[in-house]
Amino acid sequence: MRPFTYARVSSLNEAARESSRPGAMVLAGGTTLVDLMRGNVLAPDHLVDIRRLPGLDGVEETGTWLRIGALSRMADVATDERVRARYPAIAESLRLAASQQVRNMATIGGNLLQRTRCPYYRDGDSPCNKREPGTGCSALAGPDRDSAVLGGSESCVAVYPGDLGVSLVAFEASVELLSAGGPKTLPFAELHRDVADEPERETTLSPGDIVTAVTIPNSALVRGSAYVKVADRARYAFAIASAAAGLTIEDGVVTAARVGLGGVATRPWRSHEAEAELVGRPLTADTAKAAGRAAFAAARAGRDNAVKITLGPRVVEQACLRAGQGGERA
Ligand code: FAD
Ligand code: SF4
Repeated sequence: MRPFTYARVSSLNEAARESSRPGAMVLAGGTTLVDLMRGNVLAPDHLVDIRRLPGLDGVEETGTWLRIGALSRMADVATDERVRARYPAIAESLRLAASQQVRNMATIGGNLLQRTRCPYYRDGDSPCNKREPGTGCSALAGPDRDSAVLGGSESCVAVYPGDLGVSLVAFEASVELLSAGGPKTLPFAELHRDVADEPERETTLSPGDIVTAVTIPNSALVRGSAYVKVADRARYAFAIASAAAGLTIEDGVVTAARVGLGGVATRPWRSHEAEAELVGRPLTADTAKAAGRAAFAAARAGRDNAVKITLGPRVVEQACLRAGQGGERA
């Protein structure tokens, strides 16, 4: 591990100043960052420990939104009664992520900004455009079971691995930031970049930006929502494919739909195609299937990852059918 300096900050002003130093990175729960530093995949010059910052922890709810502080632990948000009752896909996407031990340490801000699990990125040796721009992409030439089937480019096909982001993109969450110019808010859908030809730039954040909270609008769509995840194991495994869905149903007809996809794309992925397939139709096994097919119509498999195109539509179908039960109640 390369030597680095360390600062534990206790105010937002101090955090903003320290995190804008060259080569600085923010440390929250450390469950991603410390691993990657140990493997020499990330080598910050300066580590800014934000764990003692006041006011960034906890869930607040009003009639119109839910606000989750960036330092809230995944475990606490997953089991919060308000989140479980009125934001079920958010709670489920956290409950099905990682393990209890990881969820006890990991924060919401860190979860959103976790790095890809592409094995070539993490091994520290293989050519990888994301780790070392310009070296090439080993996943395009080698085994690629974990690679994305949506959103990839000739530079990178790495999957965005997180679960929570799938629900946040579906339900139109916003991200609150502390930036050099002061606080700002951006739609969650704009936090992660398309891969294009700069896979090393994963987000639209500027150096020094600190995520302070995420806010999710309270709507009938999210109140009846569902999250479905398929992985190699029931616990402690990243998604092969996952989906968040929310529907409103009036007089037996779907009037609005939200669908997010995970484990299959290079960023948290909203499927407007699946949503269009549902709206204006009754929710039946056939329309849910059609939504699944539409979500993956543009998907392209590599050598070993066609399983994502087989399982993905079924996951969307299941999420829609489960959300349909909630949509009628909401
Ligand atoms: P850190 O490791 O501290 O930081 C992660 C990144 O975010 C770093 O780049 C850091 O600089 C940046 N960062 C952190 N907080 C902020 C902030 N407030 N503002 C700006 N930048 C910030 N995740 C899933 O979603 N689903 C899974 O199934 C899953 N399985 C896992 C299994 C294992 C064995 C492990 C180790 C992890 C797994 N994870 C999974 C990932 C885990 O959820 C993340 O490691 C965790 O959420 C990261 O949070 P953290 O607080 O530890 O972040
Ligand atoms: Fe690196 Fe992306 Fe290729 Fe994986 S898919 S080896 S992260 S460039």
